[in-house]
Amino acid sequence: MSWVATRVLAVLGAGGAGALAGLLVGGLNDLPRVGAVAGAVLAIGAVVGRDAWRGRRLLKWLRGSLDGSAPRDAGFWGEVGYRVEKGLKARERRAEAERERLAQFLSAMEASPNGVLLIDADEQIDWCNSVAALHFDLQPDRDRRQRVTNLVRSPAFKAHLDAGRWQEPVVFVAPDGHTTLSVVVRQYGDGLKLVLSQDITERERHEAMRRDFVANVSHEIRSPLTVLSGFVESMATLPLDAAERQRVLALMGQQTERMKTLVADLLTLAQLEGSPRPAPDRWVALPALFEQALADARALSGGHHHVSATVVDGWALAGSESELLSAVGNLLSNAVRYTPDGGRIRLNWLPRADGGGAVEVVDTGPGIAREHLPRLTERFYRVDGSRSRETGGTGLGLSIVKHVMQRHGGAIEVDSAPGAGSTFRLVFPPARVRRDAPGLPPVQGGPMLNVAGDATAR
Ligand code: ADP
Repeated sequence: MSWVATRVLAVLGAGGAGALAGLLVGGLNDLPRVGAVAGAVLAIGAVVGRDAWRGRRLLKWLRGSLDGSAPRDAGFWGEVGYRVEKGLKARERRAEAERERLAQFLSAMEASPNGVLLIDADEQIDWCNSVAALHFDLQPDRDRRQRVTNLVRSPAFKAHLDAGRWQEPVVFVAPDGHTTLSVVVRQYGDGLKLVLSQDITERERHEAMRRDFVANVSHEIRSPLTVLSGFVESMATLPLDAAERQRVLALMGQQTERMKTLVADLLTLAQLEGSPRPAPDRWVALPALFEQALADARALSGGHHHVSATVVDGWALAGSESELLSAVGNLLSNAVRYTPDGGRIRLNWLPRADGGGAVEVVDTGPGIAREHLPRLTERFYRVDGSRSRETGGTGLGLSIVKHVMQRHGGAIEVDSAPGAGSTFRLVFPPARVRRDAPGLPPVQGGPMLNVAGDATAR
């Protein structure tokens, strides 16, 4: 209450001072009482007038937009103005901090790799991040306050929201018709709901591939096992003479060989998938690689084909020698196995203008129809299943080649048409191709052998 006392004192002080002044002035005119009263009234009036003027000024500020500072007066009204202004500023600071926190929270939700959708108790959209907008085909500004089930029309989603039991996620196809979404709903606040969406298309595809793979492997292993167990039974129950025994044993040997090749290819694939990428600075000399691959192909052909290669002196590829040999070897083995006797098989090296290069295997075999080409590198995909199995194929060769090329930053290309032979090309990027220039240490590798025909002969 000190401000009351101060103000009373100020009025009394002013009144007293005015009365004293009036007394002096009135005394000179023989009217001391009139002078004192007039002096006191004038002084008190001045104080009250100044007070009213300050109060009015403050009221004007309060009625306005409250921008800027309150009137800086001394005394009571100055204090009131200052306190009001301080309170307003504190509140403004708190509101600003809240706004900032909300903005940060929303930008964290925006940064989420999953879709985040907030809906109210009436299932109307309150807010969504851009991932949710993409998943549910929403436009955040346009669709705000719209009922979510009017826009996301999947019956599974609607049934899930209606069910009210949201422990398990619901999986359905997004409005774009090809993305598979896994959606989790959680309730919060007063009937509000948080809808989290995740694109699981890739995961589902991998899961389907894994199931197919297991089914294929089981099938591939079951066939030779069935044959083997048949032979075992024959040997156990039938009286076979020495020649028949030899024949059955040879057939059993073929089946075990087939299983061994399959397991070896499966292990190669597993190793390729599980090991780090081959180093970009380990140089493999092409002459030695070609020499080895060519020797293997000739041994497999047994002289039934004309197998040749171009000169590759001085060229080298960066990567894993065993993987590169396996890729080129697989292509040559296919060429030998699918090309009829007397056919020509050629191994070429084609430097490219961009500094990269391609290893090419060209054969004069049966060729492959266009519709099969995109699927050739799928595991267990065979164009001619019986020819593949007869010649010891596993259906995994080209998928091994594709993996090797991906790991070396390259790609596999195929040109083929029925009756026109096939060309398989392993394309390497410039970073993986080197030709020894003067000053560079030469790559390790042997001399090129058996060169016949030109590089594009087919
Ligand atoms: P496989 O072990 O059956 O040869 P691959 O993955 O190596 O498996 O090849 C897949 C399929 O592509 C083969 O089954 C075969 O039908 C076809 N193919 C591959 N290379 C050739 C080729 N040079 N000529 C004709 N067909 C080929």
